[in-house]
Amino acid sequence: MKYFRMEEFKCKCCGQVDFPENIKALVENVLDPAREKLGKPIVVNSGYRCPKHNIAVGGVVNSQHMKGEAADLCCADNKRLAEIIEKNGKYDQMIKYLRPDGSIRFIHVSWKRNGGNRKQRLVSK
Ligand SMILES: [Zn+2]
Repeated sequence: MKYFRMEEFKCKCCGQVDFPENIKALVENVLDPAREKLGKPIVVNSGYRCPKHNIAVGGVVNSQHMKGEAADLCCADNKRLAEIIEKNGKYDQMIKYLRPDGSIRFIHVSWKRNGGNRKQRLVSK
């Protein structure tokens, strides 16, 4: 946890942070290396979500946000951030959420601490 604090990952509705060990693994394997290479701040829009909050924001039923395995990120150059994550090659799932003009609104990225990372890339419009 070099560039991020656990506090940045707490649930937006209740302030809870479950599965901190999973969040730590996500940061150390995916977020910190990406932040290092990017050289600019990264904002965590959504980190851990309690089940109630996940429903409130329309998250999928098995959302990795509820396990502390996922974060939604944005920064001044989302395209570059996506390229860096991709190139680093350590992620379970990366979803680029696009604006109507095709630019990246935010990036969802996940990491499974216990292995079986799928390296799956998706685009959501
Ligand atoms: Zn909550």
